[in-house]
Amino acid sequence: MPRRIVILGATGSIGAQALDVIARSDPEELELVALGAGHAWGPLIEAASRHGVHRIALADPDSAARAAEAWTDGAVLSGPDGLVELITDSGADIVLNAIVGSAGLLATIAALGEGIDLALANKESLVVGGELVTTLAQATGAAIIPVDSEHSALHQLIAEQGAGTIDRLLLTASGGPFRGRLPVQLRDVTVAAALAHPTWEMGGKITIDSATLMNKGLELIEARHLFDLPYERIEVVVHPQSIVHALVQLCDGATLAHLGYPDMRVPISYALHYPDRAEVPVAPLDLVALGSLTFEAPDEQTFRCLALAREAGITGGTAPCVLNAANEVAVHAFLEQRLGFLGIAEVIEQTLEAVPATGLHSFETLSDADARARSVAGALVDARAPA
Ligand code: NAD
Ligand code: MG
Repeated sequence: MPRRIVILGATGSIGAQALDVIARSDPEELELVALGAGHAWGPLIEAASRHGVHRIALADPDSAARAAEAWTDGAVLSGPDGLVELITDSGADIVLNAIVGSAGLLATIAALGEGIDLALANKESLVVGGELVTTLAQATGAAIIPVDSEHSALHQLIAEQGAGTIDRLLLTASGGPFRGRLPVQLRDVTVAAALAHPTWEMGGKITIDSATLMNKGLELIEARHLFDLPYERIEVVVHPQSIVHALVQLCDGATLAHLGYPDMRVPISYALHYPDRAEVPVAPLDLVALGSLTFEAPDEQTFRCLALAREAGITGGTAPCVLNAANEVAVHAFLEQRLGFLGIAEVIEQTLEAVPATGLHSFETLSDADARARSVAGALVDARAPA
């Protein structure tokens, strides 16, 4: 029996690469059963037609209505509830959550709540939902298999190790397009410059997160929840070539590393086939051509988002949710040229001050904190905007 797969965020960067991985796979192994997206109804029905899928959902109801008019080849579900229904009625074995932002939390909860394994690209749902998400997975027995390249690397490195043998996890960061710059050199950077990532091609939001180092901050929190180690045992090292994705330091002094060219089809394929592996057409690693791999400490004074994320993670409760919501608002404003690059960290820091963390008791606590943080961050952006 092939493994039945649902892809959410199917029209995005990860979604497109996942469709490519599935198209190349053995139909006896993987079967695509449903696709979901936010607004992009045209590309979604195009993908559904191309991949022979007859169930789709769009989180935006207007887009769903337009898809339903244009597409007669299957069922179109509408709105956030439609996305949840797409998951719960799919009979899926695995849901790939490649939605961007905390909007992905609902899908994470729906899949795990049904006991469906989750291939998780949407790191924000683990950042925001933290222990609630991992507790839900434990309760239903569903697995969370990370798609984020560093966490996929760690998953692969850790799988072979016995309990209690892991001392430290190391996440690598490319450093983004502005590595080595000082704050004064960042004040006037353009959106185009921030979107020009040196090693990875990704959606707009995560590309800006990579330029601010917030992406690595979110990944610290993601690693904390996936691998259940305290923050003082998870480190970040800047590695501009993006060849070493992560390292695990063991109790006997051995350190294991995971290497490969930056290509998200590798972690996507790993998550969809786990515990098996399948061929992915990537060039074999040529260390001689690479010549040297370099490493340096992150500059957290200049790229303050990393420190803010670690602090929010250590504070716990609703703090990571507030951090994430403020970041989404600030990045959106930066992309619309309503906020300068350095304003992103400032808005996040001020939002964290204005919305104190509370304990995490339920998913409702999270949606309240998310809404409050968005409103505060939005007002902070408006107050800074030139008249
Ligand atoms: P993207 O912007 O290219 O695509 C986002 C997808 O989410 C689109 O299909 C969009 O329609 C959908 N979407 C947006 N809002 C939605 C909503 N409210 N409900 C349902 N669907 C919605 O983003 P991406 O770069 O593919 O990233 C997706 C996720 O994967 C992010 O969490 C990102 O951090 C993570 N990730 C991406 C990469 C990468 O290489 N792109 C690497 C690691 C992790
Ligand atoms: Mg990553």
